[in-house]
Parts: sequence; structure tokens; C-alpha cells
Amino acid sequence: AEEYLHRLFERIERSRLNAFTTLAKESALEAAREFDARPWGGALAGIPVAIKDNICTRGIETTCSSRILKGFIPPYDAHVIERLRAEGAIIIGKTNMDEFAMGTSTETSCFGPTRNPWDLERVPGGSSGGSAAAVAAGEAPCALGSDTGGSVRCPASFCGTVGMKPTYGLVSRYGLIAYANSLEQIGPITKTVEDAALLLDVIAGHDPRDSTSIASEGNYLSSIGRDIRGICIGVPEEYFGEGVDPGVERAVWDAVSVLEGLGASWRKISLPHTKYALPAYYIIAMSEASSNLARFDGLRYGLRVGEDKDWHTTFSEIRAMGFGKETKRRILLGTYALSAGYYGRYYLKALKVRTLIKRDFEHALNKVDIIASPTMPFPAFKIGERITDPLSLYMSDVFTVPINLAGIPAISVPCGFSDGLPVGLQLMARPFDEALLLRVANAYE
Ligand code: GLN
Repeated sequence: AEEYLHRLFERIERSRLNAFTTLAKESALEAAREFDARPWGGALAGIPVAIKDNICTRGIETTCSSRILKGFIPPYDAHVIERLRAEGAIIIGKTNMDEFAMGTSTETSCFGPTRNPWDLERVPGGSSGGSAAAVAAGEAPCALGSDTGGSVRCPASFCGTVGMKPTYGLVSRYGLIAYANSLEQIGPITKTVEDAALLLDVIAGHDPRDSTSIASEGNYLSSIGRDIRGICIGVPEEYFGEGVDPGVERAVWDAVSVLEGLGASWRKISLPHTKYALPAYYIIAMSEASSNLARFDGLRYGLRVGEDKDWHTTFSEIRAMGFGKETKRRILLGTYALSAGYYGRYYLKALKVRTLIKRDFEHALNKVDIIASPTMPFPAFKIGERITDPLSLYMSDVFTVPINLAGIPAISVPCGFSDGLPVGLQLMARPFDEALLLRVANAYE
């Protein structure tokens, strides 16, 4: 374990990707030495894992890639970290992300952007871009990310790795620094579907500290490997056509034929409210974010300035200095959507649209077992290409955010290339049907 870790850290330190924000070198090497002397058991015994920097790790700085949290060392582990450690895993460090998970490209980080290992001029996707880039480049065998509106699946798709968003409630959010509580889940980013199943086995399960947490039916690893004969795949017509890169379309249709060749059948379906998903998502996500981020007042966590001033001044100065541009934009827009007079027009309306989108999936998944689509409408774009135009960046989430609004599970698996860049196939399933989702993804892979 120690030798392997030395090699990993050497590779990370030589890397130009900027995938990590903090390395836990000393504690990881010490754990590895102990492991080598007296190996312990567990599903992940001695396995190094990289963790997105919005998941609290005891004794390891956790910043959400924001200036406002610099220097914050959590005194406790998130539920998923407790589970990883209990199964023998070794935490090697924290990975770069968009500030507070707000983004699709890992360009809003205060540590600077992460680069895509397939083309260093391009973004790795986001917001869990550091986790996906690290796994794709062999800087970590597996990683955790968080997915509020695609942040695990998008970087997995752009970097050519597997990335999964579990059903809402399957994985405890205790210790995940909240962006939009009603949408997000922690999920694995791995090289193979089998590894994703193994990690999900470890992190899923009931936790009384998250009131939305539900017991896991468990063993996902044993559910994969069986054939997929007789499974019906739905292909939603709204997820193809205008705005979708032709190379991405081709790769996804090829994947559907592969599934057909494995004994599944497919049919076209409709998810008629798809075009309302983006505006509804951004109103809900920004509203929740504006409320969640109120706790960063410069007194309780991280960065501190002007302690001799009154509370209002300290609060304003620290937030002006500590938050980046995109985070401020979202706090302002979310506060606006929640304010008296606008609440009904925007926030309540968005909640109603959310119900319609959820029903779309319920109807569709009554007729088919699995839904297949592109994960992202195009492959990784150039660093700097979209960051100055927030709307164009938001639009790229069109196929990932409906899944979070509906709360269903989805996985992105590599399905070929467009212009030499990886393309992701997104598979979706009924709530808590991760076993089938992983089985189909594994059969395809
Ligand atoms: N790109 C989306 C956003 O910026 C999704 C982010 C996420 O899943 N954390 O909100």
C-alpha cells in the first residue's frame, strides 16, 4: 500500500491537471504503513480514495474551493467518510471543484481551473472536475463527487470515466456542505461500473443525522454481471436534435444498438416537460443556495477579517472578499426569487414544474425499465470558452438537471468519442432501482 501511494503522490505532484486542492500525504502514508504492517479487512481495505472538497474530512482542510472557507479544518467526518474509513479505505486528498459546486466546468474554483487529461486546453466538466480528472489520469483509483444538477455525471462524461448519482435519500448528506439540499446526492466516480457498485455498497445506507436518508437494499456489486435480455430501454425524443453535437448523437445511438445486441429492446418515449427543467432547476437551486450560504458570516468558519468592527460590517466585508463572482450572482438571484412578492411567481412556480417533470419520469418508467440519453449535449469545451456567458453554461446542463428534480438514479458511462473527446451515455432508472441501473451499465461496458 505504501509503495502504491508513493507512486500516486509522485504522479499527482508532477501533474499539470490541478485536480487536487489539498493532499493528505502524511496521514495517508502513515495509514498505508500501518496497513502493510498489519493488514486490516473491509471492502476497500488499503484502497486510496480522493474526495471532493465539499465533503467534510476530519483533520483535512475542506474549502469548497472558496476563499471564504480557506483554513477550515472540520472537526468531524461526513457520513460517507466514516463509511469509507470503516471499510478500510485511505483518504489521499481533496479534489478541486467549482466554488460551492456551482458550475459545469471547474473554472470557478479559487484554486484555478482543473484541466481535462484528454486535452489540457479543455475543461474537465464540473462541478466535481477534480475527482473525474484525477480518476481519468490515474491520480486516484476512485473518487467521490456530489451531484446537485449533474456535477458527478458531467465531469465523468467529459473525462471518460463512470459517474453515478444515486436516488435522492440513498446516501446520507451529513457532512456534505450544502448547495441545494433537495437536489443533491454524493456519488462515486470510477474507472468501471463494478467499482461504482462497490463504492455505492459502502456509502449507501440509513443515517439518522440526515432526515431524508433511507435504508439501502444493498448488495449492488452482486446484482451486476447478469444479462439484460428482455429489458426495455426508452429513448426520449426531447434529448436529441437541436443543440446536440452530431458525434455525441452517433455515439449514443451506437450504444443503444449495443444494448439491443445484448438482448434488450428499445422504443422512443417522450418526456414532454423537459424544456422547463432548466429554468425550474436554476430557480430552486439558487433559492436553496442563497439560504444555505447565509451561514458563511466570517465568524464561525474559515477566513476572518476586521474583527474589531461591528457584525454588519464584518459580515459584508468577509462575504465581499470571500465569495467569487458566480457564487455572488446565485446568492443575489436566489434571494430575489425568494423575496416577498416574487416567491409565488418564481419559487412556487418552479416547485410545481418540478412535480410535472417528476411525473414525466414516472409515466415513462411505467412503460420502460431504463431510459438512455446523452449525458451532455457536447464533449468538453475549451477553458474560458463559456465562463463569461453564464446562460450558455447553464444550458449545457439540460440533460442532467431533470434527473435531480425527479430524484431518480442515473449513471454516465463512456460510450465512445466525438472529435477525439470522450462522450458519456446517461442511463436512468426508477427510484431505488440502482441494482438494475448498474446491471445494464455493466453489461454495456
Ligand atoms: N452545473 C449545475 C449548477 O451549476 C450543477 C452543479 C452540481 O451538480 N453541483 O448548478
